[in-house]
Amino acid sequence: MVEIRKDYFTDKLSVVTSDRGNRSQFKSFSDHGGKCPFCPGNEEMTPQADLVLVKMGETLVKQSDSEGDPVRGWVVRVFPDKFPIVTPNAAPSYGEAPHYSEPAIGYHYIMVATPKHDMAFPKIDIDQWTSVLATMQDKTRWLYAQRGVGYVAIFINQGKIAGSHIDHPHIQLVTIPRLPPVVEAEAVTVQNSLNELGICPMCQVVASETGGPRQILTTEFFIAFAPWASAHSYEFWIYPKRHQTSILKLSQKELMDLALILRATLGGMSKVLGDCGFNLVVHNSSEKKTTKQIHWHLEVYPRVSNWSGLELGSGVFVNEVSPEAAAEQLGAASRKELAHLVGIT
Ligand SMILES: [Zn+2]
Ligand SMILES: [Zn+2]
Repeated sequence: MVEIRKDYFTDKLSVVTSDRGNRSQFKSFSDHGGKCPFCPGNEEMTPQADLVLVKMGETLVKQSDSEGDPVRGWVVRVFPDKFPIVTPNAAPSYGEAPHYSEPAIGYHYIMVATPKHDMAFPKIDIDQWTSVLATMQDKTRWLYAQRGVGYVAIFINQGKIAGSHIDHPHIQLVTIPRLPPVVEAEAVTVQNSLNELGICPMCQVVASETGGPRQILTTEFFIAFAPWASAHSYEFWIYPKRHQTSILKLSQKELMDLALILRATLGGMSKVLGDCGFNLVVHNSSEKKTTKQIHWHLEVYPRVSNWSGLELGSGVFVNEVSPEAAAEQLGAASRKELAHLVGIT
């Protein structure tokens, strides 16, 4: 059984599944010194990859596994999750009784971000990040072309505290039939402001945080800052400076610049916090034309502390590091990383 249930009173959604018990199989691979299913040489341990980036000479070529003959020597590898949260084959059962539910129809993909098991995200170089981001764009476009896909959630879980079962750096893409509540809430705010004032409120945030006490880093096209009401200590967001609705709209030049700011800020984060777990999520507009649009961005939540009953039960967050103090530390470390990356000392 797998279905999406809506809360009694609010827009909160839960994917309820009873089919993921086998997931512990994957845990054991990494936890007990066994083979990592995401490492080169172990391709047979995962479902067949339908998008594999391979370097041929100086160019990158897209390939896919053939049955029993996986592509070797890859740079980035994308395949369906062995234990998906949502599935294209979910029974199409919609219900109102006893409460609202809809089928969890969708796709769950894993994108292995590097062939190197120990190459943690903060160390992945700019060329590799650019390949990862371009592959993410490709797969996301493909997913939006599939039936029943309302939104593609793109996220990273790194470290056990962040919900990861496998250490090998990977990105997940999970589709749901409509906008998730968090993005829907942002989209409503943006839409209302655009309708009433003709202004994107997220563009206003970018303008007000630029050069301020919460700014961490700026590059040609992006700004990273610690948000005013950070829920997590050392949380930071990365926004395109100009109004842009989707990560799919990035040009190659912007993509490389995003790779640069990601490498610099994640590198800065790891200099300040050490080898900490984190989540990274993309807030994006849907490609479905009927849905409201946002100013797309990335949010990074370092997982330096666990949530308590207050956070879980009331949605009120206790953050023991002010965003201003976080920005000062992350900013100094990230600027150092950036200077190193672009060869300025
Ligand atoms: Zn591995
Ligand atoms: Zn905007």
